[in-house]
Amino acid sequence: MTARPAHLRCPRCGYTLDATIAASESRGESQGACTECGLDIAWSKLRDEGNDPAWFVESRMPRRNIARRAFETLAMCARPFALWSRVSMSIPLRVRGIVAFMLAVAVAAHAIAAVARIAISDAQWQRWRGTHLPAVDAAFGAVAPLSVYAASDILEECQRCAAAEKAGNARVAWLAANTLAVAAFAVDRADTPEIAIGSGAGYGSVRGYEPQLLTKPARERLLAATILPIAAPCVVMLLPTSMRRARVRAVHLARAAAYSAALLLPILAFALYASATRWPLVLGAPTITGRLVPHAVLLAALPLTLVWNHAIAKRYLRLEHPAAVAAACTTVATLLALAASAAMFDAI
Ligand SMILES: [Zn+2]
Repeated sequence: MTARPAHLRCPRCGYTLDATIAASESRGESQGACTECGLDIAWSKLRDEGNDPAWFVESRMPRRNIARRAFETLAMCARPFALWSRVSMSIPLRVRGIVAFMLAVAVAAHAIAAVARIAISDAQWQRWRGTHLPAVDAAFGAVAPLSVYAASDILEECQRCAAAEKAGNARVAWLAANTLAVAAFAVDRADTPEIAIGSGAGYGSVRGYEPQLLTKPARERLLAATILPIAAPCVVMLLPTSMRRARVRAVHLARAAAYSAALLLPILAFALYASATRWPLVLGAPTITGRLVPHAVLLAALPLTLVWNHAIAKRYLRLEHPAAVAAACTTVATLLALAASAAMFDAI
């Protein structure tokens, strides 16, 4: 028999399997079931730490740098069944890997928002002025997609102020940089966004008129819909059968919830589309379809969450009746999201 480290544990429930494995191997078996939760395990896999997927951000033997693996893991999220059958419960949770993954999601979300902002602004420029968006505005849109200000307006106003103050180029550059920095974050200046530039004789102001990337109702609907994918894996904890029989350790649900952040990207893209095309997200027409339209973002998140959690329950947690578990989790999480939505809009 080969030497092995003390205490081999069941990856799903954490039960110590040393005695079980010794007994099983003495009978010449290479695999067996956890005596506590019934998970089928190939014993060799418990000792094998070098076989984690090379692309996975939490791999124990990383052969690539963590930033690259974070984006590769994110790309794998497009194929949930492939992802969750390769990510094993025996890989220990690595906070560093999960933080890297979250950063990758944030970068991807920023890229989606930037593309949407430039596309929407360009469409507006073409409609109003018959030309394409100036490069400086496109660049500013890419850096600060949430801002409702146009960089060219700010720069123009800065130059006007500087001329009035007879200030030098350094002063203009300082004003421009400061104002752009303010504009990048001044998203929520109510209905009449306006930023002041300069001081004294050179005082001027720019009104924000670039389209808001996400209208207020779209933002709130997106926020409510976000609850769905993140909460759904955690609901497994509430299911008596999965917790009593399968005894899933909470750490696995935390991992599943963390990677569910990937679902926020298509949901964000959908919310941006709904916002840009002015869907009635506050209150719809008094028909069945009309009643459903305000919940469009949540409805778009539903099938994604269902399929994603089916993959988690079946391939990762390896639970019995994975489809039923996924359906139950998605239903409970949908109710939570609807409750959040109702709290923000005072109506369902
Ligand atoms: Zn077990």
